[in-house]
Amino acid sequence: MHRPPPHTPCAADVDVALVGFGPVGAMLANLLVQQGLRVIAFEREAEVYRLPRAIALDAECMRVMQSIGVADALAEEMLVGSGMRFVNAEGRLLIDWNRPPGIGAQGWHPSYRYHQPSLEAALRAHLARQAGFSLRTRHEVFALDAQADHVRVRFEDLNAGRLHDLRAAWVVGCDGARSTVRRFMGTELDDLQSHERWLVIDVILKRDRPDLGDQSIQFCDPARPATYVRGVGARRRWELMLLPGEDAGDMTQPERIWPLLSKWITPDDAVLERPTSYTFHSVVAQRWRRDRLLIAGDAAHQTPPFMGQGLCAGIRDASNLAWKLAAVAQGEASPVLLDTYESERSPHVRAFIEATLELGRVIQETNPQAARERDARWLQQPMAFRAPQPRLGPGVHDGTGRSGTLSEQPFMDDGTRLDDQIGHRSALLVRPALAQQARALAPASMCVVSAGSGACAQWLDRAGAAALLLRPDRYIAGLAEHGTELASLLERHLGRIRGPLIEGGHH
Ligand SMILES: Cc1cc2nc3c(=O)[nH]c(=O)nc-3n(C[C@H](O)[C@H](O)[C@H](O)COP(=O)(O)OP(=O)(O)OC[C@H]3O[C@@H](n4cnc5c(N)ncnc54)[C@H](O)[C@@H]3O)c2cc1C
Repeated sequence: MHRPPPHTPCAADVDVALVGFGPVGAMLANLLVQQGLRVIAFEREAEVYRLPRAIALDAECMRVMQSIGVADALAEEMLVGSGMRFVNAEGRLLIDWNRPPGIGAQGWHPSYRYHQPSLEAALRAHLARQAGFSLRTRHEVFALDAQADHVRVRFEDLNAGRLHDLRAAWVVGCDGARSTVRRFMGTELDDLQSHERWLVIDVILKRDRPDLGDQSIQFCDPARPATYVRGVGARRRWELMLLPGEDAGDMTQPERIWPLLSKWITPDDAVLERPTSYTFHSVVAQRWRRDRLLIAGDAAHQTPPFMGQGLCAGIRDASNLAWKLAAVAQGEASPVLLDTYESERSPHVRAFIEATLELGRVIQETNPQAARERDARWLQQPMAFRAPQPRLGPGVHDGTGRSGTLSEQPFMDDGTRLDDQIGHRSALLVRPALAQQARALAPASMCVVSAGSGACAQWLDRAGAAALLLRPDRYIAGLAEHGTELASLLERHLGRIRGPLIEGGHH
Protein backbone atom coordinates (compact mmCIF):
# COMPACT_ATOMS: atom_id res chain seq x y z
CA MET A 1 0.00 0.00 0.00
CA HIS A 2 2.87 2.38 0.75
CA ARG A 3 5.35 3.37 -1.83
CA PRO A 4 9.01 3.73 -0.87
CA PRO A 5 9.77 7.34 -0.02
CA PRO A 6 11.71 9.37 -2.57
CA HIS A 7 14.15 10.63 0.03
CA THR A 8 15.66 14.02 -0.49
CA PRO A 9 19.42 14.01 -0.09
CA CYS A 10 20.14 14.46 3.60
CA ALA A 11 22.98 13.51 5.87
CA ALA A 12 20.68 11.67 8.30
CA ASP A 13 20.86 8.03 9.41
CA VAL A 14 17.11 7.96 10.07
CA ASP A 15 14.14 10.11 9.05
CA VAL A 16 12.76 10.48 12.55
CA ALA A 17 14.21 9.86 16.01
CA LEU A 18 11.63 9.59 18.78
CA VAL A 19 12.81 10.48 22.25
CA GLY A 20 10.57 8.56 24.66
CA PHE A 21 8.53 5.49 23.85
CA GLY A 22 5.46 5.72 26.06
CA PRO A 23 2.03 5.39 24.44
CA VAL A 24 2.40 8.54 22.30
CA GLY A 25 5.84 7.54 21.01
CA ALA A 26 4.57 4.05 20.19
CA MET A 27 1.53 5.43 18.38
CA LEU A 28 3.57 7.93 16.38
CA ALA A 29 6.17 5.29 15.48
CA ASN A 30 3.43 3.04 14.11
CA LEU A 31 1.99 5.83 11.98
CA LEU A 32 5.37 6.96 10.63
CA VAL A 33 6.65 3.49 9.82
CA GLN A 34 3.38 2.71 8.08
CA GLN A 35 4.18 5.56 5.72
CA GLY A 36 7.60 4.20 4.86
CA LEU A 37 9.78 6.36 7.11
CA ARG A 38 12.90 5.06 8.85
CA VAL A 39 12.31 5.57 12.56
CA ILE A 40 14.31 4.93 15.72
CA ALA A 41 12.93 5.31 19.24
CA PHE A 42 14.94 5.79 22.43
CA GLU A 43 13.43 4.79 25.76
CA ARG A 44 15.10 5.15 29.13
CA GLU A 45 13.15 2.29 30.75
CA ALA A 46 13.61 -1.41 29.99
CA GLU A 47 9.91 -2.28 29.74
CA VAL A 48 6.47 -0.77 29.34
CA TYR A 49 5.50 1.07 32.54
CA ARG A 50 3.74 -1.65 34.54
CA LEU A 51 0.96 0.39 36.12
CA PRO A 52 -1.95 2.05 34.34
CA ARG A 53 -2.41 5.77 34.25
CA ALA A 54 -4.83 6.40 31.38
CA ILE A 55 -7.96 4.28 31.54
CA ALA A 56 -10.42 5.84 29.04
CA LEU A 57 -10.11 6.26 25.28
CA ASP A 58 -12.53 8.04 22.95
CA ALA A 59 -13.90 7.11 19.53
CA GLU A 60 -11.50 9.36 17.63
CA CYS A 61 -8.54 7.54 19.16
CA MET A 62 -10.08 4.19 18.25
CA ARG A 63 -10.11 5.46 14.67
CA VAL A 64 -6.39 6.19 14.91
CA MET A 65 -5.86 2.66 16.26
CA GLN A 66 -7.97 1.43 13.34
CA SER A 67 -5.71 3.25 10.89
CA ILE A 68 -2.74 1.09 11.94
CA GLY A 69 -4.83 -2.08 12.06
CA VAL A 70 -4.97 -2.80 15.80
CA ALA A 71 -8.41 -1.48 16.81
CA ASP A 72 -10.45 -4.68 16.39
CA ALA A 73 -8.01 -6.75 18.43
CA LEU A 74 -7.80 -4.06 21.13
CA ALA A 75 -11.58 -3.64 21.28
CA GLU A 76 -11.93 -7.29 22.27
CA GLU A 77 -10.07 -6.56 25.49
CA MET A 78 -11.75 -3.23 26.14
CA LEU A 79 -14.95 -2.35 27.88
CA VAL A 80 -17.45 0.08 26.39
CA GLY A 81 -17.56 3.17 28.61
CA SER A 82 -21.00 3.99 29.95
CA GLY A 83 -20.61 7.62 30.92
CA MET A 84 -19.96 9.67 34.01
CA ARG A 85 -22.17 11.11 36.73
CA PHE A 86 -21.33 14.01 39.02
CA VAL A 87 -23.09 13.75 42.36
CA ASN A 88 -23.11 15.94 45.46
CA ALA A 89 -22.20 14.84 49.00
CA GLU A 90 -25.69 13.31 49.36
CA GLY A 91 -25.34 11.35 46.12
CA ARG A 92 -27.78 13.52 44.14
CA LEU A 93 -27.14 14.14 40.46
CA LEU A 94 -25.50 17.43 39.44
CA ILE A 95 -24.11 16.69 35.97
CA ASP A 96 -24.74 13.77 33.65
CA TRP A 97 -22.18 12.92 30.97
CA ASN A 98 -24.20 10.24 29.29
CA ARG A 99 -22.53 8.05 26.67
CA PRO A 100 -25.06 6.52 24.26
CA PRO A 101 -24.51 2.74 24.24
CA GLY A 102 -24.42 2.23 20.45
CA ILE A 103 -21.79 2.80 17.76
CA GLY A 104 -21.59 6.54 17.06
CA ALA A 105 -20.76 8.76 14.10
CA GLN A 106 -17.06 7.86 14.38
CA GLY A 107 -17.81 4.21 13.62
CA TRP A 108 -16.92 3.27 17.21
CA HIS A 109 -18.52 3.56 20.64
CA PRO A 110 -18.04 7.03 22.14
CA SER A 111 -15.82 5.74 24.96
CA TYR A 112 -13.78 2.68 25.92
CA ARG A 113 -12.02 1.49 29.07
CA TYR A 114 -8.71 -0.28 28.76
CA HIS A 115 -5.55 -1.34 30.58
CA GLN A 116 -2.77 1.06 29.53
CA PRO A 117 0.17 -1.39 29.80
CA SER A 118 -1.73 -3.88 27.58
CA LEU A 119 -2.45 -1.18 25.00
CA GLU A 120 1.21 -0.11 24.96
CA ALA A 121 2.32 -3.74 24.62
CA ALA A 122 -0.05 -4.17 21.65
CA LEU A 123 1.34 -1.05 19.95
CA ARG A 124 4.89 -2.34 20.46
CA ALA A 125 4.04 -5.84 19.21
CA HIS A 126 2.50 -4.39 16.06
CA LEU A 127 5.60 -2.28 15.43
CA ALA A 128 7.90 -5.24 15.89
CA ARG A 129 6.37 -6.70 12.72
CA GLN A 130 7.15 -3.60 10.60
CA ALA A 131 10.30 -2.86 8.61
CA GLY A 132 12.11 0.43 9.08
CA PHE A 133 11.82 0.66 12.87
CA SER A 134 14.29 0.08 15.65
CA LEU A 135 13.85 0.50 19.38
CA ARG A 136 16.61 1.19 21.88
CA THR A 137 15.34 0.53 25.38
CA ARG A 138 17.54 1.49 28.35
CA HIS A 139 18.89 4.31 26.19
CA GLU A 140 18.62 7.89 27.34
CA VAL A 141 18.89 10.90 25.06
CA PHE A 142 20.85 13.65 26.79
CA ALA A 143 21.73 16.15 24.04
CA LEU A 144 20.48 17.35 20.66
CA ASP A 145 22.81 19.34 18.40
CA ALA A 146 20.96 21.12 15.61
CA GLN A 147 22.68 21.14 12.22
CA ALA A 148 21.44 22.62 8.95
CA ASP A 149 20.07 19.37 7.52
CA HIS A 150 19.88 17.05 10.52
CA VAL A 151 20.00 16.82 14.30
CA ARG A 152 22.82 15.02 16.05
CA VAL A 153 21.11 12.93 18.72
CA ARG A 154 23.42 12.04 21.60
CA PHE A 155 22.41 9.19 23.85
CA GLU A 156 23.68 6.87 26.54
CA ASP A 157 23.33 3.12 26.53
CA LEU A 158 22.39 2.80 30.20
CA ASN A 159 23.25 -0.90 30.37
CA ALA A 160 26.79 -0.50 29.06
CA GLY A 161 27.38 3.08 30.21
CA ARG A 162 28.51 4.00 26.68
CA LEU A 163 27.81 7.24 24.83
CA HIS A 164 26.78 7.23 21.16
CA ASP A 165 25.21 9.50 18.61
CA LEU A 166 23.32 9.37 15.34
CA ARG A 167 21.93 11.82 12.81
CA ALA A 168 18.16 12.21 12.45
CA ALA A 169 16.42 14.41 9.91
CA TRP A 170 13.67 15.13 12.49
CA VAL A 171 13.39 14.57 16.25
CA VAL A 172 10.08 14.28 18.09
CA GLY A 173 10.08 14.45 21.88
CA CYS A 174 7.42 12.03 23.16
CA ASP A 175 9.31 12.17 26.42
CA GLY A 176 6.56 13.09 28.84
CA ALA A 177 6.00 15.89 31.31
CA ARG A 178 9.69 16.58 32.05
CA SER A 179 10.63 16.54 28.36
CA THR A 180 14.30 16.86 27.47
CA VAL A 181 13.43 17.79 23.88
CA ARG A 182 11.19 20.63 25.07
CA ARG A 183 14.14 22.05 27.00
CA PHE A 184 16.40 21.83 23.96
CA MET A 185 13.72 23.69 22.02
CA GLY A 186 14.02 26.42 24.64
CA THR A 187 10.27 26.68 25.04
CA GLU A 188 8.32 27.13 28.24
CA LEU A 189 4.94 25.95 29.44
CA ASP A 190 1.88 28.21 29.57
CA ASP A 191 0.45 27.62 33.01
CA LEU A 192 -3.36 27.30 33.02
CA GLN A 193 -3.29 27.67 36.79
CA SER A 194 -4.49 24.33 38.12
CA HIS A 195 -2.11 22.05 40.00
CA GLU A 196 -4.12 19.93 42.43
CA ARG A 197 -2.73 16.98 44.40
CA TRP A 198 -4.71 13.75 44.22
CA LEU A 199 -4.28 10.18 45.42
CA VAL A 200 -4.74 7.57 42.69
CA ILE A 201 -5.65 4.16 44.10
CA ASP A 202 -5.91 1.16 41.78
CA VAL A 203 -7.39 -1.98 43.27
CA ILE A 204 -8.07 -5.48 42.00
CA LEU A 205 -11.35 -6.95 43.20
CA LYS A 206 -11.17 -10.31 44.93
CA ARG A 207 -14.90 -10.83 44.57
CA ASP A 208 -17.57 -9.48 42.29
CA ARG A 209 -19.02 -6.12 43.31
CA PRO A 210 -21.61 -5.25 40.63
CA ASP A 211 -23.12 -2.68 43.01
CA LEU A 212 -20.10 -0.41 42.38
CA GLY A 213 -21.43 0.10 38.86
CA ASP A 214 -19.96 0.63 35.42
CA GLN A 215 -20.36 4.40 35.23
CA SER A 216 -17.63 6.71 36.46
CA ILE A 217 -18.76 8.81 39.39
CA GLN A 218 -17.41 12.18 40.46
CA PHE A 219 -18.25 12.57 44.15
CA CYS A 220 -18.40 16.36 44.49
CA ASP A 221 -18.16 16.21 48.26
CA PRO A 222 -16.48 19.33 49.68
CA ALA A 223 -15.15 17.24 52.61
CA ARG A 224 -13.11 15.11 50.16
CA PRO A 225 -13.71 15.27 46.38
CA ALA A 226 -13.35 11.78 44.91
CA THR A 227 -13.67 9.84 41.65
CA TYR A 228 -14.64 6.23 41.00
CA VAL A 229 -13.70 4.60 37.69
CA ARG A 230 -14.45 1.08 36.55
CA GLY A 231 -11.47 -0.46 34.80
CA VAL A 232 -11.33 -3.62 32.70
CA GLY A 233 -11.69 -7.03 34.36
CA ALA A 234 -11.41 -6.82 38.13
CA ARG A 235 -9.69 -3.42 38.08
CA ARG A 236 -11.30 -0.49 39.84
CA ARG A 237 -9.86 2.96 40.57
CA TRP A 238 -10.55 5.63 43.16
CA GLU A 239 -9.00 9.06 42.99
CA LEU A 240 -9.18 11.12 46.17
CA MET A 241 -8.22 14.76 46.42
CA LEU A 242 -5.49 15.51 48.94
CA LEU A 243 -6.41 18.29 51.32
CA PRO A 244 -4.08 21.11 52.41
CA GLY A 245 -1.54 19.91 54.97
CA GLU A 246 -1.88 16.22 54.07
CA ASP A 247 1.42 14.52 53.32
CA ALA A 248 1.34 12.50 50.09
CA GLY A 249 3.82 9.90 51.37
CA ASP A 250 1.85 9.36 54.55
CA MET A 251 -1.53 9.27 52.76
CA THR A 252 -0.46 6.49 50.37
CA GLN A 253 0.14 4.05 53.26
CA PRO A 254 -2.41 1.19 53.34
CA GLU A 255 -3.45 2.05 56.91
CA ARG A 256 -4.50 5.51 55.66
CA ILE A 257 -5.96 4.31 52.35
CA TRP A 258 -8.42 1.67 53.60
CA PRO A 259 -10.35 4.00 55.95
CA LEU A 260 -10.67 6.46 53.05
CA LEU A 261 -12.13 3.72 50.82
CA SER A 262 -14.31 2.16 53.52
CA LYS A 263 -17.58 3.61 52.23
CA TRP A 264 -17.04 1.69 48.98
CA ILE A 265 -14.81 -1.34 49.67
CA THR A 266 -12.80 -3.12 52.38
CA PRO A 267 -9.71 -5.39 52.31
CA ASP A 268 -12.17 -8.32 52.09
CA ASP A 269 -13.22 -7.05 48.65
CA ALA A 270 -9.96 -6.09 46.98
CA VAL A 271 -6.17 -5.85 47.06
CA LEU A 272 -4.38 -2.56 46.54
CA GLU A 273 -2.46 -2.62 43.27
CA ARG A 274 -1.05 0.84 43.52
CA PRO A 275 -1.71 3.72 45.85
CA THR A 276 0.18 6.77 44.64
CA SER A 277 -0.16 10.53 44.42
CA TYR A 278 -0.09 12.83 41.41
CA THR A 279 -0.20 16.56 40.99
CA PHE A 280 -2.61 17.10 38.11
CA HIS A 281 -1.06 19.91 36.08
CA SER A 282 -2.72 22.04 33.40
CA VAL A 283 -0.08 23.33 30.99
CA VAL A 284 0.49 23.83 27.27
CA ALA A 285 3.94 24.35 25.71
CA GLN A 286 4.39 27.74 24.09
CA ARG A 287 6.05 26.22 21.02
CA TRP A 288 5.66 22.73 19.62
CA ARG A 289 8.29 23.00 16.90
CA ARG A 290 11.67 24.57 16.64
CA ASP A 291 13.41 23.85 13.33
CA ARG A 292 13.91 20.07 13.31
CA LEU A 293 12.72 19.47 16.88
CA LEU A 294 9.07 18.81 17.74
CA ILE A 295 7.17 17.64 20.83
CA ALA A 296 4.01 15.57 21.29
CA GLY A 297 1.88 14.13 24.10
CA ASP A 298 2.58 15.08 27.72
CA ALA A 299 5.74 16.85 26.55
CA ALA A 300 3.48 19.40 24.81
CA HIS A 301 0.46 19.53 27.16
CA GLN A 302 -0.85 18.14 30.42
CA THR A 303 -4.37 18.06 31.80
CA PRO A 304 -6.12 16.78 34.93
CA PRO A 305 -7.76 13.41 34.15
CA PHE A 306 -11.40 14.38 34.85
CA MET A 307 -12.37 13.99 31.18
CA GLY A 308 -9.91 11.15 30.46
CA GLN A 309 -8.31 13.20 27.70
CA GLY A 310 -4.54 13.37 28.39
CA LEU A 311 -3.47 10.45 26.26
CA CYS A 312 -6.32 11.00 23.81
CA ALA A 313 -4.81 14.42 23.10
CA GLY A 314 -1.38 12.82 22.62
CA ILE A 315 -2.81 10.33 20.14
CA ARG A 316 -4.39 13.24 18.25
CA ASP A 317 -0.96 14.89 18.16
CA ALA A 318 0.53 11.74 16.64
CA SER A 319 -2.23 11.50 14.05
CA ASN A 320 -1.90 15.18 13.09
CA LEU A 321 1.89 15.13 12.94
CA ALA A 322 2.51 11.79 11.22
CA TRP A 323 1.16 12.59 7.75
CA LYS A 324 2.77 16.03 7.75
CA LEU A 325 6.15 14.68 8.82
CA ALA A 326 5.90 11.97 6.16
CA ALA A 327 5.06 14.53 3.46
CA VAL A 328 8.02 16.71 4.46
CA ALA A 329 10.50 13.85 4.92
CA GLN A 330 9.52 12.47 1.51
CA GLY A 331 10.06 15.84 -0.16
CA GLU A 332 6.38 16.36 -1.02
CA ALA A 333 5.85 19.36 1.23
CA SER A 334 7.74 22.32 2.58
CA PRO A 335 8.86 22.09 6.23
CA VAL A 336 6.55 25.07 6.78
CA LEU A 337 3.74 22.48 6.82
CA LEU A 338 5.08 21.36 10.21
CA ASP A 339 4.20 24.74 11.71
CA THR A 340 0.54 23.88 11.17
CA TYR A 341 1.00 21.02 13.66
CA GLU A 342 1.22 23.55 16.50
CA SER A 343 -1.20 26.10 15.03
CA GLU A 344 -3.88 23.41 14.62
CA ARG A 345 -3.31 21.30 17.72
CA SER A 346 -2.50 23.87 20.39
CA PRO A 347 -5.91 25.65 20.44
CA HIS A 348 -7.65 22.30 20.06
CA VAL A 349 -6.03 20.77 23.13
CA ARG A 350 -6.58 23.99 25.09
CA ALA A 351 -10.33 23.68 24.46
CA PHE A 352 -10.25 20.23 26.09
CA ILE A 353 -8.11 21.37 29.00
CA GLU A 354 -10.38 24.36 29.63
CA ALA A 355 -13.47 22.10 29.60
CA THR A 356 -11.65 19.79 32.03
CA LEU A 357 -10.84 22.73 34.29
CA GLU A 358 -14.52 23.76 34.27
CA LEU A 359 -15.44 20.28 35.46
CA GLY A 360 -12.54 20.39 37.91
CA ARG A 361 -13.99 23.53 39.51
CA VAL A 362 -17.25 21.65 40.10
CA ILE A 363 -15.52 18.56 41.49
CA GLN A 364 -12.77 20.21 43.51
CA GLU A 365 -14.91 22.70 45.44
CA THR A 366 -13.95 22.31 49.11
CA ASN A 367 -15.72 25.37 50.51
CA PRO A 368 -18.99 24.02 52.04
CA GLN A 369 -20.95 27.23 51.41
CA ALA A 370 -19.80 27.44 47.76
CA ALA A 371 -20.63 23.73 47.36
CA ARG A 372 -24.17 24.35 48.71
CA GLU A 373 -24.64 27.18 46.19
CA ARG A 374 -23.30 24.96 43.39
CA ASP A 375 -25.70 22.18 44.40
CA ALA A 376 -28.66 24.56 44.53
CA ARG A 377 -27.89 25.59 40.95
CA TRP A 378 -27.47 22.09 39.46
CA LEU A 379 -29.98 20.10 41.52
CA GLN A 380 -32.86 22.10 40.01
CA GLN A 381 -31.83 20.98 36.54
CA PRO A 382 -28.83 18.64 36.31
CA MET A 383 -26.58 19.61 33.45
CA ALA A 384 -26.31 17.29 30.44
CA PHE A 385 -22.59 17.54 29.66
CA ARG A 386 -21.19 17.09 26.18
CA ALA A 387 -17.46 16.91 25.39
CA PRO A 388 -16.20 19.80 23.28
CA GLN A 389 -15.80 19.25 19.55
CA PRO A 390 -13.47 22.12 18.72
CA ARG A 391 -12.27 23.04 15.26
CA LEU A 392 -8.53 22.76 14.68
CA GLY A 393 -6.67 26.04 14.82
CA PRO A 394 -5.63 27.63 11.51
CA GLY A 395 -3.73 25.29 9.21
CA VAL A 396 -4.48 22.84 6.42
CA HIS A 397 -8.22 23.45 6.12
CA ASP A 398 -10.60 26.15 4.95
CA GLY A 399 -11.57 27.26 8.46
CA THR A 400 -15.27 27.61 7.60
CA GLY A 401 -18.33 25.42 8.07
CA ARG A 402 -17.28 21.88 8.97
CA SER A 403 -13.72 22.18 7.72
CA GLY A 404 -11.15 21.72 10.46
CA THR A 405 -13.51 19.43 12.40
CA LEU A 406 -13.34 15.66 12.72
CA SER A 407 -15.11 13.81 9.92
CA GLU A 408 -17.66 11.09 10.46
CA GLN A 409 -16.90 7.48 9.62
CA PRO A 410 -19.95 5.95 7.94
CA PHE A 411 -20.29 2.24 7.35
CA MET A 412 -20.19 1.27 3.66
CA ASP A 413 -22.87 -0.83 1.98
CA ASP A 414 -20.70 -3.94 2.38
CA GLY A 415 -20.47 -3.39 6.17
CA THR A 416 -16.86 -2.15 6.21
CA ARG A 417 -15.94 1.21 7.66
CA LEU A 418 -15.04 4.15 5.40
CA ASP A 419 -11.48 4.51 6.77
CA ASP A 420 -10.71 0.91 5.84
CA GLN A 421 -11.41 1.76 2.21
CA ILE A 422 -9.27 4.88 2.31
CA GLY A 423 -6.18 3.74 4.22
CA HIS A 424 -3.92 6.38 5.73
CA ARG A 425 -4.36 8.82 2.81
CA SER A 426 -6.36 11.88 1.99
CA ALA A 427 -9.68 11.19 0.34
CA LEU A 428 -12.26 12.93 -1.75
CA LEU A 429 -15.81 11.81 -1.08
CA VAL A 430 -17.96 12.86 -4.04
CA ARG A 431 -21.37 12.46 -5.62
CA PRO A 432 -21.20 9.86 -8.43
CA ALA A 433 -21.65 12.55 -11.09
CA LEU A 434 -18.36 14.10 -9.95
CA ALA A 435 -16.34 10.89 -9.61
CA GLN A 436 -14.73 11.01 -13.04
CA GLN A 437 -13.77 14.67 -12.70
CA ALA A 438 -12.45 14.04 -9.18
CA ARG A 439 -10.24 11.17 -10.37
CA ALA A 440 -8.83 13.35 -13.14
CA LEU A 441 -8.07 16.24 -10.78
CA ALA A 442 -6.88 14.41 -7.64
CA PRO A 443 -3.24 13.42 -7.21
CA ALA A 444 -2.54 9.68 -7.47
CA SER A 445 -2.03 9.41 -3.71
CA MET A 446 -5.56 10.64 -2.97
CA CYS A 447 -8.42 8.15 -2.69
CA VAL A 448 -11.66 9.07 -4.49
CA VAL A 449 -14.83 7.56 -3.02
CA SER A 450 -18.02 7.82 -5.03
CA ALA A 451 -20.97 8.10 -2.63
CA GLY A 452 -24.12 7.19 -4.55
CA SER A 453 -26.24 5.75 -1.79
CA GLY A 454 -26.13 4.60 1.81
CA ALA A 455 -24.51 6.28 4.79
CA CYS A 456 -21.82 8.16 2.80
CA ALA A 457 -24.44 9.80 0.58
CA GLN A 458 -26.50 10.69 3.65
CA TRP A 459 -23.44 12.29 5.17
CA LEU A 460 -22.94 14.44 2.06
CA ASP A 461 -26.64 15.39 2.31
CA ARG A 462 -26.26 16.43 5.94
CA ALA A 463 -23.12 18.42 5.13
CA GLY A 464 -24.87 20.09 2.17
CA ALA A 465 -21.87 19.09 0.04
CA ALA A 466 -21.19 17.72 -3.42
CA ALA A 467 -17.68 16.80 -2.27
CA LEU A 468 -15.86 16.48 1.05
CA LEU A 469 -12.08 16.52 1.22
CA LEU A 470 -10.67 14.45 4.11
CA ARG A 471 -7.09 14.53 5.39
CA PRO A 472 -5.18 11.38 6.38
CA ASP A 473 -5.92 12.20 10.04
CA ARG A 474 -9.67 12.16 9.19
CA TYR A 475 -10.23 15.89 9.69
CA ILE A 476 -12.22 17.73 7.02
CA ALA A 477 -9.97 19.93 4.88
CA GLY A 478 -12.86 21.58 3.05
CA LEU A 479 -15.99 20.95 1.08
CA ALA A 480 -17.47 21.88 -2.27
CA GLU A 481 -21.15 22.68 -2.27
CA HIS A 482 -21.27 22.31 -6.05
CA GLY A 483 -19.22 20.41 -8.61
CA THR A 484 -17.93 23.68 -10.03
CA GLU A 485 -15.99 24.26 -6.79
CA LEU A 486 -14.15 20.93 -6.90
CA ALA A 487 -11.06 22.15 -8.73
CA SER A 488 -10.57 25.15 -6.44
CA LEU A 489 -11.10 22.98 -3.33
CA LEU A 490 -8.27 20.70 -4.43
CA GLU A 491 -6.07 23.56 -5.52
CA ARG A 492 -6.37 25.30 -2.16
CA HIS A 493 -5.66 22.11 -0.28
CA LEU A 494 -2.63 21.05 -2.30
CA GLY A 495 -1.29 24.60 -2.15
CA ARG A 496 -1.44 24.52 1.65
CA ILE A 497 0.38 21.21 1.80
CA ARG A 498 3.09 21.94 -0.73
CA GLY A 499 3.51 25.43 0.69
CA PRO A 500 6.50 27.52 -0.26
CA LEU A 501 9.38 25.35 -1.46
CA ILE A 502 11.79 27.43 0.55
CA GLU A 503 11.53 27.91 4.29
CA GLY A 504 13.22 30.91 5.87
CA GLY A 505 15.03 31.62 2.61
CA HIS A 506 16.86 28.28 2.36
CA HIS A 507 16.27 24.54 2.20
C1 LIG B 1 -4.00 9.22 37.26
C2 LIG B 1 -4.01 9.48 35.81
C3 LIG B 1 -5.14 9.13 35.07
C4 LIG B 1 -5.15 9.35 33.69
N1 LIG B 1 -6.26 8.99 32.98
C5 LIG B 1 -6.29 9.19 31.64
C6 LIG B 1 -7.40 8.72 30.86
O1 LIG B 1 -8.32 8.09 31.36
N2 LIG B 1 -7.38 8.96 29.53
C7 LIG B 1 -6.34 9.61 28.91
O2 LIG B 1 -6.40 9.81 27.69
N3 LIG B 1 -5.27 10.04 29.63
C8 LIG B 1 -5.22 9.84 30.97
N4 LIG B 1 -4.12 10.21 31.68
C9 LIG B 1 -2.99 10.86 30.99
C10 LIG B 1 -2.05 9.87 30.30
O3 LIG B 1 -1.66 8.86 31.18
C11 LIG B 1 -0.83 10.59 29.76
O4 LIG B 1 -1.28 11.70 29.00
C12 LIG B 1 -0.01 9.68 28.87
O5 LIG B 1 0.46 8.55 29.55
C13 LIG B 1 1.18 10.46 28.29
O6 LIG B 1 1.86 9.65 27.37
P1 LIG B 1 3.25 10.13 26.75
O7 LIG B 1 3.67 9.02 25.85
O8 LIG B 1 3.11 11.50 26.20
O9 LIG B 1 4.23 10.28 27.99
P2 LIG B 1 4.78 9.17 29.05
O10 LIG B 1 3.78 8.07 29.22
O11 LIG B 1 5.18 9.95 30.23
O12 LIG B 1 6.03 8.56 28.30
C14 LIG B 1 7.24 9.27 28.16
C15 LIG B 1 8.37 8.27 28.02
O13 LIG B 1 9.57 8.95 27.69
C16 LIG B 1 10.65 8.34 28.38
N5 LIG B 1 11.73 9.34 28.42
C17 LIG B 1 11.70 10.56 29.01
N6 LIG B 1 12.84 11.24 28.79
C18 LIG B 1 13.64 10.43 28.06
C19 LIG B 1 14.95 10.56 27.52
N7 LIG B 1 15.67 11.69 27.70
N8 LIG B 1 15.49 9.53 26.82
C20 LIG B 1 14.78 8.38 26.63
N9 LIG B 1 13.52 8.20 27.13
C21 LIG B 1 12.95 9.22 27.83
C22 LIG B 1 10.07 7.95 29.71
O14 LIG B 1 10.81 6.91 30.32
C23 LIG B 1 8.66 7.52 29.32
O15 LIG B 1 8.57 6.13 29.07
C24 LIG B 1 -4.06 9.98 33.05
C25 LIG B 1 -2.93 10.32 33.80
C26 LIG B 1 -2.89 10.06 35.16
C27 LIG B 1 -1.67 10.42 35.94
